[in-house]
Amino acid sequence: MDVTIIGGGVFGLLYAYKEVRQGKKVVLYEASSRFGGLIESKKLPWGIAESAANSILTTPTVLSFLEPLGIDWVFTEEKLARYILRDGKMMRMPLYWYELAEMFLRSLFIVSDGSSQTAFDDCKRYLGSAAAEYLCGAFVTGIYGVHPSQLDLKTAFPGLVVPRGHTALSYGLSLPRKVKARMAAPRNGMEGIIHALVQYLTPRAELHLNCPISTLPPGPVVLAVPAHEAARLVPQYAPLLMQVEYASMTSVTCVTETPFLQGALGVLIPPCEKSPLLGILANSSFFPCRSIDASRYHIFTVMLKDMDEESIRAFFAPHKIISMTVSKHRHAIPIANKALAACHEIRDKVKFVGNWTGDVSLRGYIERISHE
Ligand SMILES: Cc1cc2nc3c(=O)[nH]c(=O)nc-3n(C[C@H](O)[C@H](O)[C@H](O)COP(=O)(O)OP(=O)(O)OC[C@H]3O[C@@H](n4cnc5c(N)ncnc54)[C@H](O)[C@@H]3O)c2cc1C
Repeated sequence: MDVTIIGGGVFGLLYAYKEVRQGKKVVLYEASSRFGGLIESKKLPWGIAESAANSILTTPTVLSFLEPLGIDWVFTEEKLARYILRDGKMMRMPLYWYELAEMFLRSLFIVSDGSSQTAFDDCKRYLGSAAAEYLCGAFVTGIYGVHPSQLDLKTAFPGLVVPRGHTALSYGLSLPRKVKARMAAPRNGMEGIIHALVQYLTPRAELHLNCPISTLPPGPVVLAVPAHEAARLVPQYAPLLMQVEYASMTSVTCVTETPFLQGALGVLIPPCEKSPLLGILANSSFFPCRSIDASRYHIFTVMLKDMDEESIRAFFAPHKIISMTVSKHRHAIPIANKALAACHEIRDKVKFVGNWTGDVSLRGYIERISHE
C-alpha cells in the first residue's frame, strides 16, 4: 500500500479520492458502521434533514475536482435574500447610515501596522463597532458557533488580515476579483457526495468500516480524524492536540406547513442579539428538492448552541412544526485560536487532514488538496 488513511468522514474520503486519482494504492479505515462522519442526509417522510453541512460553494476548482464522480448538482438561485437579525428584526443591511459612514471612513483612513488580533478586534479597528457586532458577529457565529473575539483572525481567515501599510479599503481593492460561485448540493442531499466517493473508491481502493484504529500502522499514514483522536494515535503531539477546542453545535431541522423564509437563504444571528439561536437556514427555499412537495412542506434548519427539544418546539410554536430532527455535535467546529495555529505548524511523516488542520468548509479543503 502507498498510503493508509484513518477516518472515513468526508475529508478522509476526499483525500483517498485525490490519492487514487494520482495512481496511489490506498487503504482507508473508518471506525463506525457508516462513511461520512458528521455528514448525513436523513430521509424523512417530508424530505431531507441534513445533520451537518447543508451545501458546498462550487467554485470552478471544486466542480472540476469532483467532476469524475458524476454528481447530480442542484444550484441555489442567485437572488436569495440573506438576513441579519438586529433588535429582533430581520434586515438585509443591519447597519444604520451613520454606522455605514463610520465603516467607510475607517476603511479609508486606518492604516495597518501589520499586527492582527482577534476577528472581532480587527473588524472593530478597521470597520467600527457596529460592523464588528453585526456583520463580523453574525458571519463568524454562523460558521464557527463562537463569538468572533474567540477567533484569532490570522488562523481563522488568513486572507482577511490587512497587511502593513494598507487600509481595509486599499487592501480590499488590491485583492483579485472573487470567482463567481454558487452554493450547491447533490440532489439527494449532502450525503450524495459521500455515496459518490464510496462508489468511485470501492473498486479502486480498500475501504474498511467498523475498524477503529488504535495504533499507527507502518508506512505513510494520513489522519483524517478529530484532534483528540489524533492525540491518541500520535502521542508525541498529544499535549498540543489536546488543546484544540471545539465549539459544540446542534442542528435542528424543522418541517412545517406554514410558509417560512420563502425566497431566502437564511438569517444570521449576531451574538449581541442574545438569542439561543446561531442562525437559520431556509433549506427548502434554497433547495426545493429537499422537500417532497416544496409548495406544502417547508423545511428549515436552526443552528444552536444548547437548547432542549422542548424549548425549541416552544420557540417555533407559531410555525406549527410537524417534525423536528435533532443532530448534536460535541466536536462540531474547531475554534481557530492560537493553539490551533500551533497545530498547523506540525510537520511530520504522519499527515493530518481533519477539519482542524486549516479548512472547515468542504470548498476550502478541496481547493487546498487539489493543488497537492
Ligand atoms: C452543523 C454543521 C454545519 C456545517 N455546515 C457546513 C456547510 O454548509 N458547508 C461546508 O462546507 N461545511 C460545513 N460544515 C463543516 C463540515 O461538515 C465539516 O468540517 C466536515 O464534515 C468535517 O469532516 P471530517 O472528515 O474532517 O471529520 P468527521 O466528519 O468528524 O470525520 C472523522 C471520521 O473519523 C472517524 N474516526 C475517528 N477516530 C477514528 C479511528 N481511531 N479510527 C478510524 N476512524 C476514526 C470518525 O468515525 C469519523 O467518521 C458544517 C459542520 C457542522 C457541524
